[in-house]
Amino acid sequence: MKALRDRILKDGKCFPDGILKVDKFINHQMDPNLMKQICVEFIRRYASTEINKIITIEASGIAPAIMMGFLLDLPVVFAKKKKPSTMGDMLSTSVFSFTKQREYHVVISKEYLGEGDKVLFVDDFLAYGNAAKGIIDLCKKAGAELVGMGFIIEKAFQHGREVIEAEGVRCESLAIIESLDNCEIKMREK
Ligand code: 5GP
Repeated sequence: MKALRDRILKDGKCFPDGILKVDKFINHQMDPNLMKQICVEFIRRYASTEINKIITIEASGIAPAIMMGFLLDLPVVFAKKKKPSTMGDMLSTSVFSFTKQREYHVVISKEYLGEGDKVLFVDDFLAYGNAAKGIIDLCKKAGAELVGMGFIIEKAFQHGREVIEAEGVRCESLAIIESLDNCEIKMREK
């Protein structure tokens, strides 16, 4: 997606250990117009897929997910990183965070993910695929069908796509970073 690639080159910043900072337009300060274009592109790519719910994981996935839900008129559920004391029956899995270098639990209430659901997952980044693996596990536990995963930015050199496709799940990403070596953003054309 050209507008996104151009924006990453203009406002994205490289950090050590393969981290790209996009907090000027995606996950701290947000550009709603770009976010809408991002979601319209996800919707175009998944146009022939039956979806009844959008899921994501807090916190950075919530912005694209709510925009998707709004545009498709579908409910949006996000996996929580802390179990609320008021949550009843829930599904739980553990996820290793590469940016925070620690393991944490994510939970979703059984009330909001279950058999018969056909869910599309969206998130800001695909890196090693740990968050994606957690979501795949939650969907399996729920008996829900994960019809696809959509990422705003994929860092191809961290190979998360292989984790997702090995599970037979469709993966779409709108900007693919080939390398951040020497603090230079190298992006796949198209
Ligand atoms: P994964 O689970 O695929 O290894 O990493 C994905 C999660 O880690 C995303 O939800 C995202 O929030 C965070 N993440 C991974 N890589 C980056 C990055 O380069 N920059 C930022 N800002 N977040 C990242």
